[in-house]
Amino acid sequence: MNQDIERVKVLIIGSGPAGYTAAIYASRAGLNPVLYTGGQPGGQLTITTDVENYPGYPDGIMGPEMMEDFRKQAERFGTKVRYGMVTAVDFSQTPYVVTVDEQVTVHADTVIISTGASAKWLGLDSETRLNGKGVSACAVCDGFFFRGQDVAIVGAGDTACEEASYLANICSKVYMIVRRDEMRASQIMQNRVMNNPKIEILWNTETEEILGEEEVTGARVINNVTHQKRELKISGFFVAIGHQPNTSVFKDFIHMDESGYIKTIPGSTKTNVEGVFACGDAQDHIYRQAVTAAGTGCMAALDAERFLAALENH
Ligand code: NDP
Repeated sequence: MNQDIERVKVLIIGSGPAGYTAAIYASRAGLNPVLYTGGQPGGQLTITTDVENYPGYPDGIMGPEMMEDFRKQAERFGTKVRYGMVTAVDFSQTPYVVTVDEQVTVHADTVIISTGASAKWLGLDSETRLNGKGVSACAVCDGFFFRGQDVAIVGAGDTACEEASYLANICSKVYMIVRRDEMRASQIMQNRVMNNPKIEILWNTETEEILGEEEVTGARVINNVTHQKRELKISGFFVAIGHQPNTSVFKDFIHMDESGYIKTIPGSTKTNVEGVFACGDAQDHIYRQAVTAAGTGCMAALDAERFLAALENH
């Protein structure tokens, strides 16, 4: 049941660097934006530790602290930050209709999509069953629970390398499960894991099953060249195999690529729907950095501002 209807000029969906930067610009332009945070207020940076590559922080900053700063800066200029999840949209008419938590209806002249991306999973039944009982997609959030114990991590990108190194600082041993005979990660990150005596890399290896009833006790892995199986005795199983854009709620209206990343008109944040803009990881599968997300958030706010100005001049 729709109980409340609110009319806004700029509705921002998502609360990572893209969403908050859009909010800072839109609020400073006097557009009184409303921002809905989504299920993970602050976005992916809230599940990371040190951010050392965001310009302006010479000593680095913790991800959650940085996102608090983003939120405060957006609120300082009048952004209304609300907790809620967008559950439906109708972009077939203007103003655009956005439903939050299946009960609040917002009518928006422009919408800025900054919903980011979420972790991918392997898709094993045992992974679902033991999720939160030793299976995790965030080493930084959950590594602490396995201090002094043996753990495994799946993946071979920069995230997996970063998290394997992080886990090696806390845990007694880290098995890194890599499905090919090489890694996708940058050379510097690969070197870091390869030179860490606490990390054992299992090349050409895939996970058949995560073992344990009430909690993780091991994992059965198979070498995809020799077909030799091995049981690892571990209490934590981390998955770091990439991300999925959080865009499914928009799929009936917004053009996307086959992975669900929103297509924007090059050099802008414009989508195929006039007045609906996309920024951050929801539309970027290449750079995926906090600073690039923030940059496109700024672009989205400027695009929205120009769109509204053109509407008023008509
Ligand atoms: P990536 O997409 O780069 O890597 C995903 C990894 O997971 C790949 O090695 C892939 O293997 C593996 N994988 C995917 N599916 C499966 C599966 N079903 N089973 C086993 N392995 C699987 O994701 P990341 O999250 O690592 O990185 C995303 C982006 O963020 C990248 O651009 C990265 O450079 C960047 N990043 C940068 C950091 C930094 O600079 N500090 C830190 C973290 C991320 P395969 O190679 O065989 O496809």
